[in-house]
Amino acid sequence: MRFSILASGSTGNSIYIETDEHAFLVDAGMSGKKIEGLLGSINRSMKQIDGIFVTHEHSDHIKGIGVLARKYKTPIYANAKTWQAMDGLVGEIPVDQRFHFDMETVKTFGSLDIQSFAVSHDAADPMFYTFNEGNRKLAIITDTGYVSDRMKGHIQGADSFVFESNHDVSMLQMGRYPWSIKRRILSK
Ligand SMILES: [Zn+2]
Repeated sequence: MRFSILASGSTGNSIYIETDEHAFLVDAGMSGKKIEGLLGSINRSMKQIDGIFVTHEHSDHIKGIGVLARKYKTPIYANAKTWQAMDGLVGEIPVDQRFHFDMETVKTFGSLDIQSFAVSHDAADPMFYTFNEGNRKLAIITDTGYVSDRMKGHIQGADSFVFESNHDVSMLQMGRYPWSIKRRILSK
């Protein structure tokens, strides 16, 4: 299993994961063109992508989903509430490309098992994933206000962790954000 963080942060998120048999993206939070370019920079192409797993409906995670789905006929995976929340944000996605990936379930693609799990974030039903192949495990969590024991259980024993961790309480309190945003970031 190999992976590459194509982009992270509030301007857009996308992570590429491949096995010998399959290739996937977790989120596509930039324009389709930008994602194509980032894949090109690691000598990969959208044509190889077997599916995109959506974590939640915030625009920095789904911006390119509609365009890429329509252009490459890529299957898109999200849970029911996230699909509902994405409606109207990503344009038309053909029914045969809309797949349900329920919370706290496993999907298997050849030798790869993908586990979804809940996180604490202000979206409809946000979830992240672990990727498991043989005795190797990759854990991805970027958007969560705190880490529960349940999340710890899911990511325990991983060989690689992808975290986005930029929480600094005093920097936040001193910073220029309006109070409503400070309160959001300080909450669970
Ligand atoms: Zn978010």
